[in-house]
Amino acid sequence: MTSRIATDLTGKTALVTGAARGLGRCIALSLAAAGAKVACIDVNTDTLAETVGAIREAGGTAEPFACDVTQSERVNETVDAVVQLWGKLDILVNNAGITRDNVIVRMKDEQWDAVLNINLRGTFLFTRAAARPMMKARGGRIVNIASVSGLMGNPGQVNYSASKAGVIGLTRTIARELAGRNVRVNAVAPGFIATDMTAALGEDILQEVRKQIPLGRMGEPQDVADAVLFLASDAASFITGHVLTVDGGLTA
Ligand code: NDP
Repeated sequence: MTSRIATDLTGKTALVTGAARGLGRCIALSLAAAGAKVACIDVNTDTLAETVGAIREAGGTAEPFACDVTQSERVNETVDAVVQLWGKLDILVNNAGITRDNVIVRMKDEQWDAVLNINLRGTFLFTRAAARPMMKARGGRIVNIASVSGLMGNPGQVNYSASKAGVIGLTRTIARELAGRNVRVNAVAPGFIATDMTAALGEDILQEVRKQIPLGRMGEPQDVADAVLFLASDAASFITGHVLTVDGGLTA
């Protein structure tokens, strides 16, 4: 893979949730290509094995961990296992996320709970678990994948927008809590990026979406992965509590 952003993460260890496909897979591959050892987390072990296989084939180091981000005990075990394996955890990317869209009057309790659980609680659980070893090491970088929906709202996504606004609030708070230990915490807020999640919207809606994006196109997973690489790198050493939009100008 040719890298568009030059950063050396050799000697660093990283953990990426939702790494089996979509943005998480691209982020894991990019961190590994920059030299980091990457713990790949997902519920889907078959597709997770493909991500890990692709990293190893490219000469990188990766380990798969089956873990549902909503399961508190399993999250703690997973972070412990990574620290045990590689001695430390330098970079955490909270990427696992889902949508269960519906307008407010039809929104089911289960749709609300599922989205808040995975997108917000999952981010909280992994951040809490990773905070301890990072504080102890007096250093770390956490990048949370939010969404422009959490900034501007999006009709039909009250659960998703609320979860992502929550991720942004969590990011800003933890950035303040952990700054004294040199742990930086930032978020990336993608707009519409070409993955399975947006493919599910259908071509008619996507055509309308493209018209609303000033740059006139959907983003690619690499556009988000490069923003994550930057925030996880020393080049961002004075940046914490920031929300970086990667949206082709949608929220400009
Ligand atoms: P995908 O649906 O393509 O991938 C999400 C991944 O997360 C899947 O591998 C999925 O596993 C995994 N996952 C789902 N639930 C859990 C769980 N409980 N525990 C562990 N892993 C889980 O989504 P994207 O790659 O498009 O999105 C990634 C992130 O980016 C999400 O947080 C999303 O909200 C955010 N985002 C995406 C945008 C886009 O346009 N694509 C825009 C803005 C934000 P499985 O395969 O089993 O479902």
